[in-house]
Amino acid sequence: MQDCLFCKIIAGEIPAQKVYEDDKVYAFKDIAPVAPVHVLIIPKKHISTLEDINAEDAELMGHIMVTASKLAKELSLGKGYRVVSNCKEDGGQTVYHIHFHLTGGRQMQWPPG
Ligand code: C5P
Repeated sequence: MQDCLFCKIIAGEIPAQKVYEDDKVYAFKDIAPVAPVHVLIIPKKHISTLEDINAEDAELMGHIMVTASKLAKELSLGKGYRVVSNCKEDGGQTVYHIHFHLTGGRQMQWPPG
């Protein structure tokens, strides 16, 4: 999608520290990490928010979770980690290309702010 920051990262038009890519998803280090490990996992298909997914995206969403689990192992997060997707304004979403934060390497707190 034109003018989407994360679509431009996928296309290589904006630099990012890629940690994983396949035909469906792309993962890269967050530019402003909130934990020792902070990776964003995004679908290559442009979907704006979690609100916009539908039944045909079920396999893709599952693939993202499988990717998160795989990357967590590769990134030595055996003690645990968190996967979060912020949805729209109240959820704290700032980039409108759906993404899943994989964070770890420290003790997480609950509830989040
Ligand atoms: O959930 P939210 O939409 O706020 O997350 C967007 C994330 O994208 C932020 O954590 C921000 O640091 C990250 N980001 C990035 N690279 C950019 C722009 C934003 O990693 N060029």
